[in-house]
Amino acid sequence: MVGMNPLEFLEEVQREYMVSAYGDVIDYDEMYSNGNFFDFLQQEYNFKCEDRDKLIESLREMRSRHVISQYENPYYYKFFSDIISNIHRIKDAFMDCHGLDMPLFGTVEFDMFCAQIRCPNSDMPPIILFYSGIIQFAHDITNVLTKAFPIQVLDGEKITFGMEPEKIKDCIKSNRWIEKRFTDIVLSIFFCGNVDMCDVSQPENDYLYRQFSNALTDSFLTFIVAHECAHYYLGHLEKDAIKGIVTVGKVQYENLVPDWEQEFDADYIGALLTIPILNERKMDIQVILGGIYVAMWVLSIIENLQIKGGSDKTTHPLAKDRLLQIKEKLQKIMQTDLRVLEIYDVLFSDLWERFSIIAKDVEGRVLAGRPAAEVTYEQIKKVIYDEAGI
Ligand SMILES: [Zn+2]
Repeated sequence: MVGMNPLEFLEEVQREYMVSAYGDVIDYDEMYSNGNFFDFLQQEYNFKCEDRDKLIESLREMRSRHVISQYENPYYYKFFSDIISNIHRIKDAFMDCHGLDMPLFGTVEFDMFCAQIRCPNSDMPPIILFYSGIIQFAHDITNVLTKAFPIQVLDGEKITFGMEPEKIKDCIKSNRWIEKRFTDIVLSIFFCGNVDMCDVSQPENDYLYRQFSNALTDSFLTFIVAHECAHYYLGHLEKDAIKGIVTVGKVQYENLVPDWEQEFDADYIGALLTIPILNERKMDIQVILGGIYVAMWVLSIIENLQIKGGSDKTTHPLAKDRLLQIKEKLQKIMQTDLRVLEIYDVLFSDLWERFSIIAKDVEGRVLAGRPAAEVTYEQIKKVIYDEAGI
């Protein structure tokens, strides 16, 4: 690591992740030479890009000048770099961090739901890593959640969704697909650490929900990026921050072990940065708030699962505290109605309650005292899809 610059360090980390996940380095030029793959990403992940060839060419050029890492996935890079540039542009309105450069970031080809700010060592500036699994996960979960909102008015292109808690509960009760998919996603996060094996087929009326779920995903992901950037701009990694060591293949680096106060601050600033960026894109404020809140619920659920799974690495504050904090803080400064957050509370609490019943079944019949690592996803799926009667 001696004599390395931050970009070279980032490349080494990305390389190690790639090799550990795929056994080899990925050739993006070859991967993206096929237009179909790009079209698939555009369609599947709602990625807006008018000129694919121009994007690929400009990234290739940046790579050759060594301005960006040579292991950067063009699609992911563009997605995250757009959000970070926007955050950097408006950050001074919310924090006192003049003179700080834009944070260095990199995308990692790894299917886990993870975003973290890391320091190679004390002499180097921190790097934010975004794992590719976040994008897939955000789309999968919002695809499921949005289906719990009943269609109220359907008038040509214009669709309005019902936002009353009772109607949402009824919707979950009458459409067991929602419960099944939610359970599938949560259990595969618990057992596999990713959503790779989850069923992703959608009901026939999926297209009616697509705009809603894509917007919710945009807000979800923007908030995740803004939260990590907030750690950076607020200087949470400086001097006496507690750091752990992460090892990926041959590389070791420091990892922030944040305290809860720092997490609350990053959540709050993250939300403040997310709202104006999406406002500029004319996104409905209720959807923006919804996406931020869904992201926080999901983080809390994952945290919960990690505790159940026996890991003692509780880096983020527990669900209730964290959700309560952000609600109180937003309430104080927002002029807008925050009742939408209560709706997501109802939605998640209801789904979590239903999930817990099935999870007990899995625990009793599939695990039966064995460690989670001994159970295959197929065995769990049998309970969710065949035996639980949903
Ligand atoms: Zn954090």
